[in-house]
Amino acid sequence: MAHRAIRHVILDRDGVLNREAADGAFVREPAEFHWLPGALEGLAILRRAGLHLSVVTNQSGVGRGIMSLEQLAAVHERMQAEASAYGAALDAVFFCPHRPEEGCTCRKPAPGLIEAAVARSGIAAAASIVVGDDRRDLEAARRAGVAAALVRTGKGRATEDVIGNARVPAYDDLPQFARAIVAGGLS
Ligand SMILES: [Mg+2]
Ligand SMILES: [Zn+2]
Repeated sequence: MAHRAIRHVILDRDGVLNREAADGAFVREPAEFHWLPGALEGLAILRRAGLHLSVVTNQSGVGRGIMSLEQLAAVHERMQAEASAYGAALDAVFFCPHRPEEGCTCRKPAPGLIEAAVARSGIAAAASIVVGDDRRDLEAARRAGVAAALVRTGKGRATEDVIGNARVPAYDDLPQFARAIVAGGLS
C-alpha cells in the first residue's frame, strides 16, 4: 500500500481499547471497563506522534434500556481520565445509543459516527483511518470513505477468518498498529 500521512485515528472501543463484556452484555459501569493489555500504550504512541484520536462506539444498551446515558457518560469519563493520565488523551468520543431496529444513521455499519468524527476533527477523511475488531467497523469505514485496519483483539481474529486477511491490514493489537502508523505506513 502506498505511503499515506495519517493524522487522525478513529478507534472502535469494545474489543480494541477495552475488554468486551461477556456474551453480548454491555459495559454499564466504570468498574466494568477494563483496558486491554497494551491499549493505553498504543494510544500513547499515537498521541506522542501528534495524531488526533477519536473513539466511535455502538452502545445499543442505552436504547435497550439496559443502561442509562448517565451510566455511559460515567464509563467514558473513566476511560478519558485514565487515558489522559497515561499521556494518551482522547480528543472526542462518539456513540450510537440506538437499537438496531431503529434504523439510525449512526450505528455501525452505518457511517454516521465516523463521518461525525471526521467533521469534528477538521482533518480530511483521506488522512484518517479507522481501527476496529468487527466487520461492522470496517464496513462503516468503507461507507465513510475512510481507510481501515483490523486488530486481532476482541472479535478481531474471528473477523479476520470471515473476511480473509487480504482486504485490510491487520495487527495483533493496538500497540502493533500504532507502531506501524507512526513508522509511516500500513503494512
Ligand atoms: Mg468492537
Ligand atoms: Zn444510532
